[in-house]
Amino acid sequence: MKVLLAEDSRTNQILIRAYIEKAGHEIEIVNNGQEAIDQFHLERPDLILMDIVMPVKDGIEAAREIRAICEQDEDWIPIIFLSAMTKSKDIEKAIDAGGDDYLTKPVESVVLNAKLRAMQRLVNMREQLQKANYDLRMMTVKDGLTGIANRRYFDEVLAKEIKRAGRTEKPLSLVMCDIDFFKPYNDNYGHQAGDSCLKYVAITMAKVSKRPGDLVARYGGEEFGIILPETDNDGALAIAESIRTAINKLNLSHGYSAVADHITISSGVATIQLDNDGDDKIVASKLIKAADKALYKAKDLGRNQIVLDSTLH
Ligand code: GH3
Ligand code: MG
Ligand code: MG
Ligand code: MG
Repeated sequence: MKVLLAEDSRTNQILIRAYIEKAGHEIEIVNNGQEAIDQFHLERPDLILMDIVMPVKDGIEAAREIRAICEQDEDWIPIIFLSAMTKSKDIEKAIDAGGDDYLTKPVESVVLNAKLRAMQRLVNMREQLQKANYDLRMMTVKDGLTGIANRRYFDEVLAKEIKRAGRTEKPLSLVMCDIDFFKPYNDNYGHQAGDSCLKYVAITMAKVSKRPGDLVARYGGEEFGIILPETDNDGALAIAESIRTAINKLNLSHGYSAVADHITISSGVATIQLDNDGDDKIVASKLIKAADKALYKAKDLGRNQIVLDSTLH
């Protein structure tokens, strides 16, 4: 564990450092509550040992502030108070300020070690919980087959980006892509081959859109949606074209397509330019509809091509 010790007595600093290091943990020492907060901002420890009476800022106030910072980022780090004060009222005050435990000074090595082990258990549990939460979140936002974002996450991000586009008054583009003649591909090569084709196409699309804010999602069966924040119609067309070219270059054999001898896609591109905040849900459905309409026009015009929507801007 990384332990942060806030303690103004030099003697105690030396003693506790020896105990902590002997127990195999790392220690960072600061001299008062304010320094503890500053150090906490620099690097989050796994455990804080906090003296109560210190100059500049006492341990109670520092613990309160650190708890407030933790709450903001939904984090939690155990705080153990150290003090020679042992009145019940002091203990109550320390726990109320956000302390998890209390050690009386002079600190005994055996007691400190036992508390370190108890806190280590809590730290491990917290890490397991964070990992489980992360995995759960990934399961709800990722498409099981392709590993890219799913429809649910697409909707979430689109709503957020529409809000942002309203604030920044920057254009927001959407590309809807659909694999051409995918039904005959499935019918002739089988569902498994169809699945693996979907994976290749998804991964290729995700690679082409490079900006961190871009999102490539599986919108439905063999349809993909690409959200492009702060991107105008020309920029979106360029990305749609790079994707179309990249899919062509994949050169996945398709003997039953009427447009090429390999897998191709058709795309529709739509862009909105918001200058006030209207109803975000209506904006989202308008944008999707416009891109979808352009996509179907691309299909009508012969597939393996891109059509720009001209109704929204
Ligand atoms: P178009 O060029 O007009 O897009 O024709 P299409 O054949 O691609 O379109 P259609 O909508 O008729 O067929 C889509 C097919 O995509 C139907 C289904 O067999 C296939 N499909 C959808 N989802 C999946 C999937 O998860 N895995 C596989 N293997 N196939 C899928
Ligand atoms: Mg002190
Ligand atoms: Mg299709
Ligand atoms: Mg389709």
